Amino acid sequence: MHILVTNDDGVMAPGLLALVKTMRELGEVSVIAPEQNWSASGHVKTMHRPLRVKEVVLMDGCTALASDGAPSDCVALALLGLVAKPIDLVVSGINPNSNIGHDVTYSGTVTAAMEAVITGNVPAIAISLDGPDNHQAALDFMPAAVIAKQIVQRVFEKGLPKGVFLNVNVPFLPLEQIKGFRVTRQGLRVYRDSLDKRLDPRGRPYYWIGGETPTAIPEEGTDYGAIAQGYVSITPLQLDLTAYQALAELRQWNW
Ligand code: MN
Repeated sequence: MHILVTNDDGVMAPGLLALVKTMRELGEVSVIAPEQNWSASGHVKTMHRPLRVKEVVLMDGCTALASDGAPSDCVALALLGLVAKPIDLVVSGINPNSNIGHDVTYSGTVTAAMEAVITGNVPAIAISLDGPDNHQAALDFMPAAVIAKQIVQRVFEKGLPKGVFLNVNVPFLPLEQIKGFRVTRQGLRVYRDSLDKRLDPRGRPYYWIGGETPTAIPEEGTDYGAIAQGYVSITPLQLDLTAYQALAELRQWNW
C-alpha cells in the first residue's frame, strides 16, 4: 500500500508528523505538503506561476517534499507524476481544528482530499482534530493519528464508492474517552465574522476579516453533533454540488 500524506498547515506541522507515523505502520508513505500554512485557502489550482518543489527533512529524520503551491497543488503534483510510484490513497491532515459544515469549502485539508478524487480518482481522507482555539500547550495528535489508521484500514478493506471521499473529525479527547464512530452528514457552522477597518500609517484604510471563533449547531446525525457527543465523525463527501431538490422548480420557470 502506497499512501500519500499531505496537509494545509505546512510540511513541518506536528499534525502531519503524527499522521505519517501511523500511516507508516500500514505501508509505504510519501509526503508532499506546502512550505507554508494554507489553512482556509479553499480549493486552489495554481496556473499563473510555476510551482517549486524541494526536499526537506521532517523532525523524525525522514524526507518529505515541500512545495510553494497550495495543498490541492501538492496532491495534483504527486498524482500527475512527481511521485513516480502509483498512489493508492491520499490522507490529508491532521488539521488542528475541526472542518465541519461549510468549512469544507474553505478548508485546505479537505480540498486536498477533493483534488485526489479529481486528479487521480484515488480514495482520499481528510482528518481534523477538534482542538480548542485557545489551547496553549502542544496538541496531542496521537489519538487522531491512531483513529486515522483505523479508518484507512477500513477504507482499504471496503473501498470507497466512486467519487466519494471522507471528511473525518475527531473530538479532542484521550483515545479511551472517544465513544466510537458516527457516519454523519454536514452540519451547520455559525460564522461570527466581523469586518475590522483600520488605518495604515499613511492614513489609508485596510481591512481584517476577524470576529469570534465560529460555533456550530450540534444537531443529531451531523458532523458537529457527533464530535460534540464524543464520537469520531465520518462524513462522506462528493463534488457534485447540484441542488437536486431545486431542479424541477427551476425547469418550470420561463427561461
Ligand atoms: Mn489547517
